[in-house]
Amino acid sequence: MTIDELARFIEEQKERLRIEFDVDNMSENEIIFAQTVKVMEEVGELAEQVLASKSLQRRRDKKFNKEILADEIADVIITTMMVANRLDVGVEKALTDKIKKIEARYE
Ligand SMILES: [Mg+2]
Repeated sequence: MTIDELARFIEEQKERLRIEFDVDNMSENEIIFAQTVKVMEEVGELAEQVLASKSLQRRRDKKFNKEILADEIADVIITTMMVANRLDVGVEKALTDKIKKIEARYE
């Protein structure tokens, strides 16, 4: 999947969520706030899976499953891209610029 294809999915998902969560009655700030909180929720779910992968999860019923770990990584990426879309941040350019900055540190 390319970043463009992912961006198209995000646009489609934005419309699905508009219908599912009745976001037409929310302000843009409320939507961005809610979507940012959703990113945090997904980061928490990813952290749970990482802890479970190392048997560091206090709750033993949280068994490690690599498929779930991959799913949570995807959730973090998708929810973050939803926030980027709302704030009109081009993810491909953001990644390109950031990678250049990181690489420059090691030159
Ligand atoms: Mg999740």
